[in-house]
Amino acid sequence: MSLFIDQFTTTLPGVRVRFGPGVRHRVAEEMDMLGLSRALILTTPQQAETGAEFAAMLGDRAAGSFARATMHTPTAISEEATTLARDCRADCLLSIGGGSTTGLGKAIALRTDLPQIVIPTTYAGSEATPILGQTEDGHKTTITTPKVQPEVILYDAELVRSLPVGMTVTSALNAMAHAAEGLYAQNRSPLSTLMALEGLRAFRDALPRVQANPDDLQARGETLYAAWLCGTVLGTVGMALHHKLCHTLGGSFDLPHAETHAVILPHAIAYNEQAAARDLAPIAEIFGGATPGQALHAFARRMNAPLALRDLGMAAADLDRAADIATQNPYWNPRPVEARAIRGLLQAAWEGAAPAA
Ligand code: NAD
Repeated sequence: MSLFIDQFTTTLPGVRVRFGPGVRHRVAEEMDMLGLSRALILTTPQQAETGAEFAAMLGDRAAGSFARATMHTPTAISEEATTLARDCRADCLLSIGGGSTTGLGKAIALRTDLPQIVIPTTYAGSEATPILGQTEDGHKTTITTPKVQPEVILYDAELVRSLPVGMTVTSALNAMAHAAEGLYAQNRSPLSTLMALEGLRAFRDALPRVQANPDDLQARGETLYAAWLCGTVLGTVGMALHHKLCHTLGGSFDLPHAETHAVILPHAIAYNEQAAARDLAPIAEIFGGATPGQALHAFARRMNAPLALRDLGMAAADLDRAADIATQNPYWNPRPVEARAIRGLLQAAWEGAAPAA
């Protein structure tokens, strides 16, 4: 049976995407194609060395470097980097890294309209979305605008080899959450579902191979392919309970981004599996399990992912408050977001138990 549904609307962004080991060496070619000649190179402090390699490779096409990208895109850093982009007369942004670095590039693009070339080194998927989350005075806001959608993405498996196995797994589960919630999104289309299912299958196949051999370039390439698909789903359709819970836990309790996604995913999907039974059924088939939530939990366990919020530093005493915050201004969700049930979900996630059938 095809994935056709009789009514849908979709907007596909005009993004150029290139895959291949070593494709990072094509940055100059991509800049030439766009008529660009002065890139501001962005990284985190941890990836400054990689940024320096790009600066050497680009020679006088490198207008400057800024190696202070920070988790959750604080506006003070974005303002500083924007000033540098103007001062060094950059005509484009080259972001090399995970969601934090991509976020900085997007924040500068929002302020300057400069085109972005992104070279992702995690699976978070921000490079494929028109979404920017920013923090100011500890308060996180999210905006969605085509102004921040990157123009070019270069997926180079060689650069993701250095991602430690633990981060590889949690980052992959972060990406899988975009696909899983995309399956029941109100504004899904046959194409978003196709991408979500293919992304989930590619992670299922490639992640164990990466875990066995983190240098396996073919498997690393396949995980990047999965991340692109899952990120594109995130950029194309609306997210629901899972993302709301993760934003609550990250924003109000400072829990780590990818790990929190990894722990919550099986429980959020279990919460919705009756209300969205048909949409979620493929997850149980793809990962093998009695229910979609249990199948995801078993996969996460096989991948040695963190399974319990308590192991991420969440205090049991905070669960009531987390349930309260998560049920305020809920996102649309296939099953009504009900305080007692959410408190139960958080308890199970805190303990790390498999979701009940
Ligand atoms: P990150 O970008 O913060 O990276 C985590 C750490 O890993 C950093 O120190 C980074 O330098 C390092 N790192 C990245 N790639 C590496 C590699 N290949 N080898 C070694 N070290 C590497 O983490 P993330 O999970 O990619 O991104 C999280 C952020 O992205 C959050 O702020 C989240 O809100 C945001 N995000 C935004 C969107 C969106 O669409 N706007 C989507 C997903 C995530």
